[in-house]
Order: sequence, then structure tokens, then C-alpha cells
Amino acid sequence: MVPLIFAAIGAILFYKLGQALDDEEYAGSVVPPHVRDKKIQQHVDFNGHYCTRCGKRRLDFEIDHIIPIARDGRNSWHNTQVLCTDCNRRKGTTYSFLEGFRGRMK
Ligand SMILES: [Zn+2]
Repeated sequence: MVPLIFAAIGAILFYKLGQALDDEEYAGSVVPPHVRDKKIQQHVDFNGHYCTRCGKRRLDFEIDHIIPIARDGRNSWHNTQVLCTDCNRRKGTTYSFLEGFRGRMK
């Protein structure tokens, strides 16, 4: 049982390290338009027009920084997620540790 837990922790760390290594950082605090479009398109392809956070069907999507720039978050692919405008406003500069893993917070 214990070796399994270590294997699981190792797998998560390996996955996170891989993300960190291929996580391109963009200049400034806003993702470039072509990255934003690609991210939103990918989100719609996988999830349809449903918001990551509230789960409602929306057409107005924005890019949110999971760890806000104001809290030293990176302006990069893996630190961004797609939220509806309402959720993005509401989230502001708050951040839940779990959000980085689940992509949503209750
Ligand atoms: Zn939403």
C-alpha cells in the first residue's frame, strides 16, 4: 500500500514538472490574442460552450489566470483557464490551491 502512495506522488510530481518545463511564458500580463483564441477553441472542443467554473452554457469566454498575476502567477498556457465573464469578474485575484488541479472551485 505504501509503495503505491509514493508511486502516485511521484507520478503527480513528474506530471507537474513536465508541465513546468514546457510551459511557455508570455510577455506582459495578458495572453496574446492567438493564444487566447486557441485556448478558448480547445475549451469549446472539449467541453462545449460550458463555463469551467459555474458550468452554465455561455458564449462569452475569457482567459483567467489560475494563480493571478497579482499573486505572482505566470502568464503562461498552464496557468490559464477559460471562464465566462461573470466568473472571471467574481474570481478577481482570489485563488484556491485546488483550482490548479480541478480547474474549478465551489
Ligand atoms: Zn462561469
